[in-house]
Amino acid sequence: MPRYDFRCRACGDTFEVSRPMAQAGDPASCPQGHGDTVKLLSTVAVTGGGAAQAPTGGGGGGGCCGGGCCG
Ligand SMILES: [Zn+2]
Repeated sequence: MPRYDFRCRACGDTFEVSRPMAQAGDPASCPQGHGDTVKLLSTVAVTGGGAAQAPTGGGGGGGCCGGGCCG
């Protein structure tokens, strides 16, 4: 059963409510009994897999012999 985050505008408390998706839009009352609550957007966990690979320093390329200074 999905959980939904609600925030009470009366006392500012946030709480979770487990309910069927069919009742996702129904109003919920906060644990203190206030009815003035708003549903928060559920935070979606984004799996960031793109680890940047460290550039491998390709050595060489002295450039001396290429520039004609070697003879
Ligand atoms: Zn409240």
